[in-house]
Amino acid sequence: MIKLLKFYQDRGIKIVRGEGQYVWDERNNKYLDLHAGHGVAFLGHGNKIVIDYLKKQMEEISTLSLAFDTPIREEMIKELDELKPENLDNLFLLNSGSEAVELALKIARKITKRRKVVAFKNSFHGRSMGALSVTWNKKYREPFEPLVGPVEFLEYNNIDSLKSITEDTAAVIVEPVQGEGGVIPAKKEFMKNLREVTEKVNAILIMDEVQTGFGRTGKIWAHQHFDIKPDIVTAGKAIGGGFPVSAVFLPDWIGEKIEEGDHGSTYGGNPLAAAAVTAACKVAKSEKIAEQAQKKGELFMRILKEKLEDYKIVREIRGLGLMIGIDLKVNPSMAIKILQDEKVLSLKAGLTTIRFLPPYLIAQSDMEWASDAARKGISETESKRVAS
Ligand code: PMP
Repeated sequence: MIKLLKFYQDRGIKIVRGEGQYVWDERNNKYLDLHAGHGVAFLGHGNKIVIDYLKKQMEEISTLSLAFDTPIREEMIKELDELKPENLDNLFLLNSGSEAVELALKIARKITKRRKVVAFKNSFHGRSMGALSVTWNKKYREPFEPLVGPVEFLEYNNIDSLKSITEDTAAVIVEPVQGEGGVIPAKKEFMKNLREVTEKVNAILIMDEVQTGFGRTGKIWAHQHFDIKPDIVTAGKAIGGGFPVSAVFLPDWIGEKIEEGDHGSTYGGNPLAAAAVTAACKVAKSEKIAEQAQKKGELFMRILKEKLEDYKIVREIRGLGLMIGIDLKVNPSMAIKILQDEKVLSLKAGLTTIRFLPPYLIAQSDMEWASDAARKGISETESKRVAS
C-alpha cells in the first residue's frame, strides 16, 4: 500500500468533520480547534457563505487560466477593494504562502536589480527553495543548502541590527508577528525604523502576512498596528476561508514594471479560489472579524494570564489579537499532548511555545475550556519537571 508522507508528527486522531471553532473525531469526540489547520480556519469550519460560493462556482466553471476573465474574478476584486492593504492595488493570486513569498522575492530582484535579501532570526517564510532561503530554522535549511543567496539574518526587534540594510539590499522580508518562531510581536519602534531604513536605501519592504493577515491580529493587516506602509504584502491561510489560496499585493509603481512571463501559475487565481476569497471578504466585512479578533484576543489573553501566569515554568504569555503564545521555560510538547487529551487542539511554535490560532468565532466558554486545559498541561509538565 502507498504511504502518505506527512512530514508532521502524527497526532493520533482522525478528524471527520468540523463546524465553526470545533472539529469531531471518528468516535464523535468534540475538540476545540485552536490549531485551525495552521491558522487557515480563521473564519471557522464549514462557513455557510464560503460553502455556497464554492458550490455555485463549481457548478458554473471551476477551472480556467488567469488569461481568461470571469465574473467571479470581477466580484472578488470589488469585494477586496475595502480590505486590501492601503495603496497596494495590484494583486497576484497563488496557492500557498510559500509561493507568495517566492513571487515577492522574485519581484524584489527584478525591480531593484539587487540580489541581497535581509530576513530575521526566528523567521518562517515557507519551505520552497526561495522561501526556505529566508527562513531561519537550521533544521529546515541545512539538508538543502546551498539555498538562494545572499541572505543576511538580523536580530528581530533590534534597531541597531538594521544598520546592515544598505544600498545593496534588494528586499527585507519580515513577519509583523513571528508565528512559527514563537508568536513574537514586532515592536512599533522597530517596525517604524525598518520602514525608514528600507525607504532610505530603496530596498523593498516585504511584509509577510501569511499567518497574521486577514483579521487574525485584530486589524485586517497586522502592519496596520505599526502605522507603516510596506511595499509588498504576502497573504495566505485565512484569506481563502479554508480554500488553498495565497496573494501578493503590490503598489502601482511595482505593478507597472511587471511584464508578461515574469511569473505564472496553473492554478493561481482559479475560479474556485476567486469564489473562496470573495466569500471570505463578505464574511470579514459582515462579521467585523478584525474587531472581534481584537476584543476576543484581549479577553482570551486576560483569562490565560489569570490562570497560568503563576506557574514557574511559564515565561511569558504574549500575542496580538487571536494569535497567542504561552512561552514556557521547557519543551511544550507534553502540555500540548495534555491539551489534546482535554480536547483542545493547539500548535507548537519555536522551541518552547504553545500556540493558539483560534477561529474568530471562539466564545468565552471556549477560552475557559482552553485555559483550564492549558493549566492542566502546564501543571503536569511542571510537577514532572520537579520530580525528575
Ligand atoms: N509565511 C508565513 C509567515 C507562514 O506562517 C507560513 C506558514 N506557516 C508561510 C509563509 C508558508 O505558507 P504555506 O505553508 O502555505 O506555504
